[in-house]
Formats: sequence, structure tokens, C-alpha cells
Amino acid sequence: MKALIVIDYTVDFIVGKLPCGQPGIDIETRIAQLTREFAEAGELVVMAVDLHDESDQYHPEHKLFPPHNLRGTEGRHLYGALDDAYREWQDAIYWMDKTRYSAFCGTDLELRLRSRGIEEVHLVGVCTDICVLHTAVDAYNKGFAIVVHEDAVASFNPAGHEWALGHFKHTLGAAVVHGGDGEKQSL
Ligand code: ZN
Repeated sequence: MKALIVIDYTVDFIVGKLPCGQPGIDIETRIAQLTREFAEAGELVVMAVDLHDESDQYHPEHKLFPPHNLRGTEGRHLYGALDDAYREWQDAIYWMDKTRYSAFCGTDLELRLRSRGIEEVHLVGVCTDICVLHTAVDAYNKGFAIVVHEDAVASFNPAGHEWALGHFKHTLGAAVVHGGDGEKQSL
């Protein structure tokens, strides 16, 4: 059993307050496609979406980044084609607010995965070297097998993106795949 974890693919992280920009836009179609494929196959799909309250000055990101993904704002909407895929498959997708980089931190993600007997997590979204990385590290420490879809992760920082892909593969033992190779076989 496996699950697709779609990390922070929101308006703010692609073109809004803390944008990845073009690399983030470039993965739009592939993220939406994987979301549909997993949902159609009856696999668990999780939208792991950063959530902040502007008044929370105690949040560790408060001093690090400008306000982003604020509760109730358009910046928290899923970006582009992913929003369409989400609306289409909403009943089969688990929307999960998160408040830290890792999708496992302070959420019930691990319980959801364990209760379904899921042992393999497929990671897509942004940023490769921040929230995807922290989620992958937690998944590794918790004993999940990891698949990272290289054509569905992106960062504003090309060097960080490349470094993280190497780290997934060589340090976390992840399969780093694109459409057309490992991903097709594993689906
Ligand atoms: Zn944040």
C-alpha cells in the first residue's frame, strides 16, 4: 500500500507571498496528473498544506519568512491544475493542515498511514529542499519507504533542489523517479 503526499502546492508557494516561481509552475501538470492517478487507483492522497495565523509571533517561521499561507486567504488555495484535480476528487482526498515544514510534525499523518497499512510514501510538491526534505527525513526515521517524483518537486533554489534530490537517494534510500520510469512500474 502506498500514499501520495502533495506538499504545499498552494498559490502563495508558487506565485504568491513566498513563491517558487517558474520551477513551481513547471510541475503543475504532473502534480495534477499524479493526484488523479492515485485517486483513481483508490490510493490515499493527502494534501499537506501549510497553515499560519498572522498573529502567531511565537511560530519559529515568524522571524524567518514573510507572512504566507495565512488562514482564510487565497494564498492557501491549491495552485492551478491541482485545484481542479482536488475539486474533482475531493471526497477521496484527505486535506491536512500542517504548521511546520514536515507533514508529519503535529499532524495525524502517521496514524492515517499506519491504519491503512501503508508502507510507501510518494512525495511531490514544494520546496524540494525545505518541506519535501523535512517530510522525507521524518518518513525515513519512521521506517517508510520513500519515492520522490523528480518531475513533481521544485524549489526557488536550484542548488538546494539538486542537493536535496541527491540526499533523498543517497542518504534516505529513496527512489527518485520521473514519469515514464520507476513511477509507472510502481503504479
Ligand atoms: Zn510556513
